[in-house]
Amino acid sequence: MLKKEFKRTDVNRMRNLITGKTNASTGAQTGYSKKEENHKEGDVWKEGRKTWTIKNGIKQTISKLDKIRKESFMPLCCPKCGNIMKSQLDKPNYRIHKKCHDCIIKFEGSLKNKGLYKEYIKNLKGNNALTSLNEMESYLLDAVNTSNSSFISEDGVVERWVGGLDKEKYTKDIKTLTKQAKERVKKEIND
Ligand SMILES: [Zn+2]
Repeated sequence: MLKKEFKRTDVNRMRNLITGKTNASTGAQTGYSKKEENHKEGDVWKEGRKTWTIKNGIKQTISKLDKIRKESFMPLCCPKCGNIMKSQLDKPNYRIHKKCHDCIIKFEGSLKNKGLYKEYIKNLKGNNALTSLNEMESYLLDAVNTSNSSFISEDGVVERWVGGLDKEKYTKDIKTLTKQAKERVKKEIND
């Protein structure tokens, strides 16, 4: 069984959480430890009793991905207008808005007429940021609670922590930071 380590990317994610940069890159070095196996985006491998993959730079279990896949399933017809959804534009739009591209164009057009478009975009961005924060929180909690006592520092040096990772403290910190970041985003939406 491979050892899981709290990695440089986790440190970067944590820093992004602190500074509120939810969309920031966690660095070119994806950090799936050199002396173990190098996993890259899209790889699938067994570790412990779970099957893992890397999607959007985040290491996650396959069962979690299946859930996401089910949520992004697109029906044949648009629930709003009933037209068949087939254009390349329908799929990404359906995932976010649960309606076809034409319906979104119409909807956004009507918002522009009413002068509500800016407000709408602000809410959309805010909600995306909240979703990212929730994902980051569960990722970090997962990382902290499956990590052993080793840790790769910023310069790539493996450090062994006497007594191991203080899971309780990290868990508390992650929850607090996420809460603060979410409150910041909510405040921005309501401003
Ligand atoms: Zn439609």
